[in-house]
Amino acid sequence: MLPDEFVNSLTEILSAEEANALCNTIENGRSVTSIRLNPFKVSEKPEGKPVPWNRYGLLLDERPSFTLDPTYHAGAYYVQEASSMFVEHLYRTAIGERQGIKLLDLCAAPGGKSTLYSTVVGLDGIVVANEVIRQRAMALAGNVQKWGLGNVVVTNNDPSHFAGFRNWFDVIAVDAPCSGEGMFRKDPKAREEWSPELVTMCAARQRRILADIWGALKPGGILIYSTCTYNRHENEENVAWLASEYDCEGVEVSVPEEWKIVTGNISTEGGVPIPTFRFYPHRVAGEGFFAAIIRKGGQGERACAPKPRRSIFTEIQKGTQRSISSWVAQPEYMKFVQVAGNVYAYYNDTFADVKTIAESMSVITSGIMMGQLFSGKLKPEHPLALFHDVNKNDIATAELPLDAALDYLRKQNVESSYFSEGINLVTYCGFPIGWVKRIGNRANNMYPKELRITNL
Ligand code: SAM
Repeated sequence: MLPDEFVNSLTEILSAEEANALCNTIENGRSVTSIRLNPFKVSEKPEGKPVPWNRYGLLLDERPSFTLDPTYHAGAYYVQEASSMFVEHLYRTAIGERQGIKLLDLCAAPGGKSTLYSTVVGLDGIVVANEVIRQRAMALAGNVQKWGLGNVVVTNNDPSHFAGFRNWFDVIAVDAPCSGEGMFRKDPKAREEWSPELVTMCAARQRRILADIWGALKPGGILIYSTCTYNRHENEENVAWLASEYDCEGVEVSVPEEWKIVTGNISTEGGVPIPTFRFYPHRVAGEGFFAAIIRKGGQGERACAPKPRRSIFTEIQKGTQRSISSWVAQPEYMKFVQVAGNVYAYYNDTFADVKTIAESMSVITSGIMMGQLFSGKLKPEHPLALFHDVNKNDIATAELPLDAALDYLRKQNVESSYFSEGINLVTYCGFPIGWVKRIGNRANNMYPKELRITNL
C-alpha cells in the first residue's frame, strides 16, 4: 500500500487522472531493467531497445542473472535505472566535447552516475566521486575500478570538506540523498521509510549540501541537481531557493516530446530560466526522477584549492618505470608513481589535479592501482586487469569458456591447461576479468576473495 499522505501530496504536482495512473503503475507496473554499456570496453552496441536520452543505454525485456554473466564482472556494462541516465544528455548539452573537465560527483555511491560521468568527461578529464558514508564509498571504489577508465578519484568526505576548493570544478553533480518516492515501485523498503517528516528533513539537508558546495564551482560552471523523488520541496523549491540565494541561471536543453519527460522552468533574475525535468514511470520506461541544470554566474574569479596536508606520491626509478609501462597499451599518456608501497597509473594531463585532491582530501582510490613491486617486477592487482587499456597484446592471455570463467569468478580451481606458465590475463569473450598465475600444473586463481560470486 502507498502511504496516504504521499497519495494526497500528488495533487500538488499532477492532475487527478495522472496521479491515478502513477499510483497504478507504482502498484502494478513492472520495473524495467536497463544497462549502460562501457564504450571503452564494448566496441559494438548490441541490438536492443535504446534508452532515448543516453547513447549507451539499453532497455532489456527481462532481468537476466547479471551475477552469472562474466562480462558484467568485466565492467562491460553497468546496470543502471534508465531515467537517471538522462544526466548524460544534460552534460552533453552544457559541456559538449570540451576537454580537461574537472567534475565533482558529490553524492556518488554506488557509482551509477560516476561511471557515466567518467565516460563522458573522457580520458583528459577527471571525476572526483565522493561519498560521505565510508562503507558505501568502498563499494563505489569497487564499481569505479570495475568500470576501469582510470580518470576517477574516489573520496570519502562530507560536502563541507570541499570548502577549501574555490571556483575549482567545471561541473558539480549533486544527486542528493532524498525521500526516494521515485523508488516506490522498485524498492518496497522506500515506502516503509517514507514520511512527510522525512521529506522535510531531506529538503533541509539538500539545501545544506548545495550551500556547502556552491563555492567550489567555477563561475560559468554547471551544477546538475537531481533526486529520485517527486515532491516539490526537494525539487523545484530547492532549485528556486538556490536561484534566490546565488547568482545563477539555467541552460537551454532541448527535449523531444516523444521522450515524455515533463519539463518546467524556474525563473532567475534576468537570466535564462532554469529548466527542470520530471520522469514518471507511467510515462517513461524508467523510475521516478527529477533533474535541473544550473549555470553559476560571475566571471574571472581565481580558482584555488586547499594546501596539501601531506605528500603521498613517490617517484619510481626510470628503469623500473620502463618495465611497469609494458603492462599498459599506451604508456606514453601515463605516469607511474608509488603510493604506500603500491604502483598507480595516472594520465599525464590530469596528474597535477589528482595530486591536489589526493593530498588534501580523504581518498579511497584513484587512477589505476597496478600492483606491488618485488625486486623491480610488478605483481599485478585486480584493478589493472579491468583497466580498459591493459596491454592485452604483450601479456599472456587465457580465454575461458563460460563454465570455467564462472569457476574462476567463484575463486575455485580452474584447469591449469588453459594457462601459460607465469602470469595470465584471464578473459571471457575477450573481456579481461582478472589474473591467474600458473606454476607447473597449478593455476593460482588471483581473483579477489571479497569479489567472488557465491551463488551456484
Ligand atoms: N549518485 C549515486 C548513483 O548514481 O549511483 C546515487 C546517490 S544516492 C541518491 C545519494 C547518496 O548520498 C547516498 O550514497 C548517500 O549515502 C549519500 N549521502 C547521505 N547523506 C549525505 C550527506 N549529508 N551529504 C552528502 N551525501 C550524503
